Amino acid sequence: MTGLRRMLAGVLVGVIAGGHALAATGGVLSIAVSTAAPAVGDPVIVEVAANGTVDNLVLRWKDAAWPMREAGPGRYEGLIGVDLDDPEGPAAVAAEGFLDGARVRAEASLTISPRTFAVQELTLPKGMAEFDGATLRRIGKEAAELSRRFSRVTPPRWRTPFLPPVEEYRPANFGDRRVINGDPRMPHSGVDIRLPEGTPVRAIADGRVAFAGEQFFGGRSVVIDHGAGVFSVYYHLKEFAVAEGQAVSRGDRVGSVGATGRATGPHLHFGVRVPGGRVDPTRLFALPGR
Ligand SMILES: [Zn+2]
Repeated sequence: MTGLRRMLAGVLVGVIAGGHALAATGGVLSIAVSTAAPAVGDPVIVEVAANGTVDNLVLRWKDAAWPMREAGPGRYEGLIGVDLDDPEGPAAVAAEGFLDGARVRAEASLTISPRTFAVQELTLPKGMAEFDGATLRRIGKEAAELSRRFSRVTPPRWRTPFLPPVEEYRPANFGDRRVINGDPRMPHSGVDIRLPEGTPVRAIADGRVAFAGEQFFGGRSVVIDHGAGVFSVYYHLKEFAVAEGQAVSRGDRVGSVGATGRATGPHLHFGVRVPGGRVDPTRLFALPGR
């Protein structure tokens, strides 16, 4: 029994003991989650098992359907997340498909717990905090282009354990609420890792380069699509070691730490998106492997 299976089994028992609903239609499809009580910003592994091959299996989470990874005969794995801006409270994740022509479904209840993020109040000279029309248009165009790429759903290529993007992984600032000159800004959607310029940056899992280009905020930026709605984001790079469309393997060099774009000094801004939103990368690396 691997660590993940052991942990999932433990959670299953815990979920039932806690009185939460955990149903398998007709007893043929079962679902287990790596945690039934994720905090805001947490990733959650979902494991589905069936006594046969499930056709057209999808994971339903936050009003969308996502493909699952086949982990073995009759075993499937999915990765979802609670966005760093989501409210606390009850939620449900479900698996649906067809087994021997009959529709099957299983659902797991989650209770999302709150998480407190740091608030950073900054006072900046007007020129650094406000942008002219042309810059604002560029920022808007870049954001729209990235969300278009994030909306693509490709076959799953990720697997646990994920590899931290740098050897000395010292994350800071996840989810920070920034208030600049009294105006609340977007929460900080990733972690910042201060490292010397030129430090190698590597892919956290297998995937394909969905974006490699220059951005106003991110500078030299790389986005890797790991399939099934899982993406990793690397900003402020000194140089690229990959090109758009290229397939990458876990651990492949994608570039090196720099200070391009809006950066006050050399550091890697690293972020992760999974179905459901932006999650804390540090919690992703803490997920058990198999
Ligand atoms: Zn950052």
